[in-house]
Amino acid sequence: MVEIRGVHKSFGNLDVLRGIDLSVRPGEVTVILGPSGSGKSTLLRTVNHLEKADRGSITVDGDFVGYRRKGDRLYELPEREVLRRRTRIGFVFQNFHLFPHLTVLENVTEAPVAALGRTKQQAAATAHRLLARVGLDDRAAAYPRQLSGGQQQRVAIARALALEPRLLLFDEPTSALDPELVGEVLDVIKDLAEQGTTMIVVTHEIGFAREVADTVVFMDEGRIVEQGPPAEVIDRPRHARTRAFLSKVL
Ligand code: ADP
Ligand code: MG
Repeated sequence: MVEIRGVHKSFGNLDVLRGIDLSVRPGEVTVILGPSGSGKSTLLRTVNHLEKADRGSITVDGDFVGYRRKGDRLYELPEREVLRRRTRIGFVFQNFHLFPHLTVLENVTEAPVAALGRTKQQAAATAHRLLARVGLDDRAAAYPRQLSGGQQQRVAIARALALEPRLLLFDEPTSALDPELVGEVLDVIKDLAEQGTTMIVVTHEIGFAREVADTVVFMDEGRIVEQGPPAEVIDRPRHARTRAFLSKVL
């Protein structure tokens, strides 16, 4: 579903991604661990067309991110096509990013109407189904400020699902939450994993990673230090840097 090959990215003279290779198979959950500043968010953002890699290639479901192939050559995509492709990749942010002036229902129906051309009725029916799935259909008429952080993040997940994404990206989805609200959000993500949603999750929740990840990736200083099943990377890390990181977050 995702193929990342030799991806480099710099901001000025800061090398943030220094040769990333990563494959994510359909239906798999990849959890990315790593210290702050290691390039985790930048990697997710390049997959979602929010940053452009300087070198290397990324494909999502066979489509080159940022390029279209014609014959043997690659051409930059027009912005309209970038937007179209981005709408098929769900992105859930640390700080929810809900529209404050829209109700919960409107937050979930806005993009399907605007980007997928759904009718309001179709979008509302889907939104109610997705809100029920995240346990919030009774709050459809509420505004984001009337919800807890955990509820807001569950709305953000329903909103991402409303675009029928091929891939879901989560960037520290529980880092902004009070500890007692973390579980309800992780349970929703776990539920999606069990239903075969392909996702890449950046998180510091090691218990979640151990339980849900097919592959755990440890990043440091713009590189993947090691990757493999949780039983290896979390329970028997081979690299000293992975061990040092885990001893801090466990
Ligand atoms: P992580 O998510 O692992 O904490 P990031 O990918 O957010 O790491 O950031 C990696 C490094 O790149 C950090 O040093 C950060 O300050 C820098 N960085 C990220 N985005 C930008 C940007 N748009 N401009 C300049 N520097 C950036
Ligand atoms: Mg980050």
